[in-house]
Amino acid sequence: MSHTQDLSRLIQNRSDEFISISDDIWGFAESRFQEFRSFERQAAYMEQQGFRVKRGIAGEDTAFTAEYGSGKPVIALLGEYDALSGLSQKADEPCRCPLQEGGDGHGCGHNLLGTASLAAAVALKEYMAEKNLPGTIRYYGCPAEENAGGKAFLVRDGAFADCDIAITWHPGWMNQVTPSGSLANFRVFYTFHGKSAHAAGAPHLGRSALDGVEIMDVGVNYMREHMIDEARIHYAIINTGGTAPNVVQSEAQVLYAIRAPKVTQVKELFERVNDCARGAALITGTTVDIRQVAAYSDYHANDVISEKLGEHMKELLPIGYTDEELEYAKKFQEVITDLDKANLKDTAKKLCGKDSGKVLEKPLFDFLVEKNLGGGKGSTDVGDVSWVVPTGQFNAVTWCAGTPGHAWQVVAQGKGPVAHKGMLFAAKVMAATAYDFLTDPDLVEQAKKAWLEDLDGETYPNALPADAKPEIW
Ligand SMILES: [Zn+2]
Ligand SMILES: [Zn+2]
Repeated sequence: MSHTQDLSRLIQNRSDEFISISDDIWGFAESRFQEFRSFERQAAYMEQQGFRVKRGIAGEDTAFTAEYGSGKPVIALLGEYDALSGLSQKADEPCRCPLQEGGDGHGCGHNLLGTASLAAAVALKEYMAEKNLPGTIRYYGCPAEENAGGKAFLVRDGAFADCDIAITWHPGWMNQVTPSGSLANFRVFYTFHGKSAHAAGAPHLGRSALDGVEIMDVGVNYMREHMIDEARIHYAIINTGGTAPNVVQSEAQVLYAIRAPKVTQVKELFERVNDCARGAALITGTTVDIRQVAAYSDYHANDVISEKLGEHMKELLPIGYTDEELEYAKKFQEVITDLDKANLKDTAKKLCGKDSGKVLEKPLFDFLVEKNLGGGKGSTDVGDVSWVVPTGQFNAVTWCAGTPGHAWQVVAQGKGPVAHKGMLFAAKVMAATAYDFLTDPDLVEQAKKAWLEDLDGETYPNALPADAKPEIW
């Protein structure tokens, strides 16, 4: 039997335990740096399994590592477990119905993400013990991937300093190795301070902080015409200064996300957005505080790890679905918007050309996508890890084709049968790939060589301000 089959069997034997961990985390639905129950569910389980567990890393109370073995190589398996604000949703319901009004939900599938990486580590530990293999495997429980870039703080603190290889995945609706190219991303708060006054009685005595925010946003929206096409800038007004139009707002706040392919490009845009803020303050007679709270770096896929991930995905595909599972997926595909349906059709065409109609007959894409559609336009803090350790990442099918990201449909399918199958498949791919590197020093060297060539002399562009720390904001 191949090691892929052996490790798959070990994962399948414990599938009930892994499904239960993932479903519990789905239920906890804790967002950035508040993942106390999710983190403890995993950390306690890993302790029970005989891993050396270290709770709290780099000032992140909900980060932990679980390690087994000793010596080189050190293989890192990266997991996440944070949810998204406001996405509470009942499981298995193909309509928008929150479980708890205004509550959080797993709209990015991180309940599955963290659990599959943990499952891979557990299976590897059993296998290493059985075969008496040297080397170290280390599961990283990484908090706050969404909105705070938790891994950037871990990298800054040297948590990956002794790692040789890092492996992770992300839930989705395609099975594919993730190419390079997620966007670097800064999160910045702009807080305007003005002067309150009676808006009708004495408006000349007031200075509106909300005006500051609005003029800044208008300035940035004009700026869009004069920036690189690949850049993305978006904002949310966090504090409007109150609900009374007859009071001049003395304080207002807007949160920006500034993205571009490279950190250097984001830095440049950040300075220009800052100028828009300062200009708006000048115009409105207010002042503005600028506070950057998070930074994500762009992702560099390691070719050697990617190749191995692709091999094992091929080996383990198709996942195979029952009629009930296909029916389950279909009822979710029916409720995506017409825009999402058009996007699905478009993607199928890019992937399969003339055969796209055939692929679309089934609601689940149960095959390996080998065509490189380019890196996603989102951001991931796995990018930061990829600058300091050769890193490989892939996507696995956990929900129906066409499911929009960060949406209630993801939450609804998050503990369904398709999600569970995808999670176990991902665990198997990661375990088999980690084994390759654990047992072949030449392969580790090849990955390092490819990594250095790819970085081409550049070093980690740590973009976090020196005083930024993990915080709940
Ligand atoms: Zn996400
Ligand atoms: Zn995610």
